[in-house]
Amino acid sequence: MKATSQSAKANDRKARRKSAPAPAPVADNTAADAFAARLLAWFDVSGRHDLPWQHPRSPYRVWLSEIMLQQTQVKTAAPYFERFVASLPDLRALAAASQDTVLGLWSGLGYYARARNLHAAAKLCVERHGGELPRDLDALTALPGIGRSTAAAILSQAWGDRHAILDGNVKRVLARYHGIDGFPGLPAVERQLWALAESHLPPTRMTDYTQAQMDLGATVCTRADPACMLCPVQSDCVARIQGRTAELPVPKPGKAVPQRYAQVLWLLDRGGRVLLQRRPPTGVWAALWTLPQHEDEEAAERWFETHVDAEYADAETLAPVAHAFSHYKLELRPRRWRAVALRARVGDNDDLRWFARAELAALGIPAPIRKLIEASA
Ligand code: SF4
Repeated sequence: MKATSQSAKANDRKARRKSAPAPAPVADNTAADAFAARLLAWFDVSGRHDLPWQHPRSPYRVWLSEIMLQQTQVKTAAPYFERFVASLPDLRALAAASQDTVLGLWSGLGYYARARNLHAAAKLCVERHGGELPRDLDALTALPGIGRSTAAAILSQAWGDRHAILDGNVKRVLARYHGIDGFPGLPAVERQLWALAESHLPPTRMTDYTQAQMDLGATVCTRADPACMLCPVQSDCVARIQGRTAELPVPKPGKAVPQRYAQVLWLLDRGGRVLLQRRPPTGVWAALWTLPQHEDEEAAERWFETHVDAEYADAETLAPVAHAFSHYKLELRPRRWRAVALRARVGDNDDLRWFARAELAALGIPAPIRKLIEASA
């Protein structure tokens, strides 16, 4: 009888422990407590300690790196980071820069809303926070382009504050480690992952712990083919034990990505300069310089006839260029004319200008357009 009642009490205690603060479906609490310690020990030996934003580490440099890394891998972002801080070394310099300078420095990294938000946020920091990034989660998330996970990563990496992050890498690791079913983008699944991320926070070493989570996701628990044999938490990882690493995290429910087309007009004048048009301030490729572009051939021809002193039919047709956005695929269909001029009444202006080849490097130009111009000029 006594034994039964003791084991009932033990079960009760276990049940209470399990109810706070969020359910961990399979991995138990003892394992959860050890998670951070094992990750930190692994990080000391195998983590990334030589990233450009770590030396020196400042709130501005951490913030810039976090924004660049939102959609870009470390090895791609690193040279852009170096170039950016060489030109705009602190938040005040960024706030005072022109939009063209910021977009030019970002050119080639893609997802340009990140650069526009970064610039707008720097200006707000000058207005509201004395030219510094605020050391406060709510004040950071009130700035453009900074969500909860990015704010937490800035606070923990710049100041060592104790906040959980939940970027794509961490979602993947936790979904696998705890065997979480359900697409992580669903609010209920995301809430569960946040609670798990918070339950693992170590009492100290937040800067290292935040980097360790990112490093584990980027170098060991990779999307395809995770290197479980090298993983510090392999002994109780649910996905590894159950052979479900390829299934988890659950992918986004299938949705066909629409295909769109655009006619691209590539005009060169007698001196070999290229005509570029500045995109409108909102929408895809906002405020970047591109080749004049139209949704269909009829619109392209109409624009050509009103703007260019040449025959539309005299074009060279070039191979199409495919580009994938997050929400649709775009096929660019370029045509090129050499030694042409604009009609006298059009002239070039602030949003439609001839540029010499040497000027292109400093301009914000979408990557597929830059590639097209540079590959076939
Ligand atoms: Fe990821 Fe494998 Fe480590 Fe589990 S054991 S967290 S699946 S790398």
